[in-house]
This record gives sequence, C-alpha cells and structure tokens, in this order.
Amino acid sequence: MIKKKGIYSFYQSIENRKECCNIRKVHPLTGALQNIDLWITGLRSEQSVTRVDLHLLEKNETFNVIKFNPLKDWTYNDVLSYIKENNIPYNELHDKGFLSIGCAPCTRAVKEGEDIRAGRWWWESKDKKECGLHVDLKFENKHLKFDTKELKL
Ligand code: SF4
Repeated sequence: MIKKKGIYSFYQSIENRKECCNIRKVHPLTGALQNIDLWITGLRSEQSVTRVDLHLLEKNETFNVIKFNPLKDWTYNDVLSYIKENNIPYNELHDKGFLSIGCAPCTRAVKEGEDIRAGRWWWESKDKKECGLHVDLKFENKHLKFDTKELKL
C-alpha cells in the first residue's frame, strides 16, 4: 500500500482509509481474537450514529466471537465519574480534548461543542467513521436472544 500510494493515502479517499485500517487494525485483531470466546468492548451507543444500534451481546461473524458491550448505555460523563470515583488510571490525552483516541495521523483534539468522535477521521462524514473493528461484515442479523445471566463468566 505504501509503495503504491504513499504513506498518507488514507487522507485521499474512504477506500484508501479503510484499506489502511484493514491492514493495520482489522487484520492484526483477527489474529489476536483467534480461539477467544468472548470479546469485552468499551463501545457506547452515544459515541456515534454507527453505534446507536448497539446490543449488550452480539455475535460477530467476521471474527467468530461473541461481543459483550457492558458500557453500551453509559454516557461520556458516566465514564468520567466512574474513573474519578474509583481512581482508575486513564490516558491524559483525554484532558487535552482527545475524547476518542486512534492512530496519531487520524486523531485530533475536539473543540468545545463538537461531538465525541469529531476528532477521528474529521475529513469524513459521521456515518463512515468506523475502522472496521466493530463492523460485522458477514452477519446482518447479529443480535443474539440471550442476556448476561446466561453467560458463565
Ligand atoms: S486510523 Fe490508523 S489504520 Fe486507520 S487510516 Fe488512520 S493511520 Fe491507518
């Protein structure tokens, strides 16, 4: 990709950006999730229009894994409060306006009034802002009909 298109091809088109994300994020995660039964994520529904339809449990056919999204109904302020109340370490970039953090060339601080994901791929429209890690490409009806009580964690 770099030889053919240069190191900043991801700024040129959504196709190029997704190609880069696929090589640098989706492909490595595919290896990391091998033989994993449950993937616990930090996804929240309020993060973006692409995450509104989040469910507590989802079957992801792309990675062949069950996803558990325990924070799906949490707000950004819920997370901040929980961090403060429980003295949990966090990335200091959050204090500098980086409310969603990805790769350096594709992440900037958000300005006051902008939404949480405005600092990610800011040159693209809101409905395109996913790298592919949380998009199941193979399975449309991904929501499972069971709840956390049925999980033996
Ligand atoms: S977020 Fe990372 S992997 Fe995705 S296009 Fe930007 S540099 Fe590439």
